[in-house]
Amino acid sequence: MDSEANNQSIVPKKEPNDFIFGRVLGEGSFSTVYLAKDIQSGKEFAIKVCEKRHILREKKQQYVKREKEVLMLLSKHAKTSAPFFVRLFCTFQDHSSLYFVLTRATNGDLLTYLQKAEKFEEDVARFYTAELVHAVEHMHLLGVIHRDLKPENILLDTHRHILITDFGSAKIIPQPPFLPETENSDGTARRSSFVGTAQYVSPEILTDKRSSPASDLWAIGCILYQMLDGNPPFQARSEYAIFQKILKLEFQYPPLFPSVAQDFISKLLVIDSKERLGAQDFGGYPSIKNHRFFESIDFDTLHLKTPPRPT
Ligand code: ATP
Repeated sequence: MDSEANNQSIVPKKEPNDFIFGRVLGEGSFSTVYLAKDIQSGKEFAIKVCEKRHILREKKQQYVKREKEVLMLLSKHAKTSAPFFVRLFCTFQDHSSLYFVLTRATNGDLLTYLQKAEKFEEDVARFYTAELVHAVEHMHLLGVIHRDLKPENILLDTHRHILITDFGSAKIIPQPPFLPETENSDGTARRSSFVGTAQYVSPEILTDKRSSPASDLWAIGCILYQMLDGNPPFQARSEYAIFQKILKLEFQYPPLFPSVAQDFISKLLVIDSKERLGAQDFGGYPSIKNHRFFESIDFDTLHLKTPPRPT
């Protein structure tokens, strides 16, 4: 795969003047992302600029800190591992803002492709789900739960390979991974407030606010369903109504939904997180990768393949 920038080692300390800032690539709720060129190397990056005043006003310090921490962890392992993440090359700040220098995703996000295509052919959905599984396996081995996987957070590089982004809601769990969060040292259950996006949130986050790597597996089930149907499986007018449907596992497959994909999704969209496909695996996801849905996929060479055109 491309990612010239992805092959580059972390650059030494930089400052805003080291870059020529170009057009705005996108806006988040408390950040603006610019196309920027490193004057010295001529390489292009996406620079996420977060205004300090705004972060403080919105009380998003934890979110920004977590995003940096996770991106640093994944970027440190980028050379030896799955290349399917936006990489953080360096950070710097001035009196008003924080700057994150990131891999530039030149092909937008998966949601935009999906909306244009309405739904994907099965081979396209299979390819992108395989890249997602490969990336999530790697992330979980490093002890990171994303907690907000959804098509908008899956960006695409020059060749349309995936680059997972938006780690502000992520959680770093103590190694070894695959152990659900249990207790704090004082014996109380570790809890966190609701994070993520309603349509992709797993039942355990709704019931006892406890996430585990299996919460990301639930989201993968929702994303694959959406790629094949055009809409996520759990939809309603309000977040509350979506949550009720999730808790009752109230969704249906439309007629002609591919049957092997249906079997795979049904093994991920399981209320008990411990019973989800992959949840009992240690050191990787053999039960997921060996599912018949991925019969034609070689996970080790995915990054060398030309992704099918998302149609
Ligand atoms: P929020 O912070 O509200 O959850 P967000 O996560 O989308 O939103 P940002 O990460 O600031 O916020 O991204 C804002 C927009 O900038 C994205 O929607 C995307 O269009 C664009 N963008 C973000 N990162 C990159 C990147 N690495 N390459 C290209 N475009 C990007």
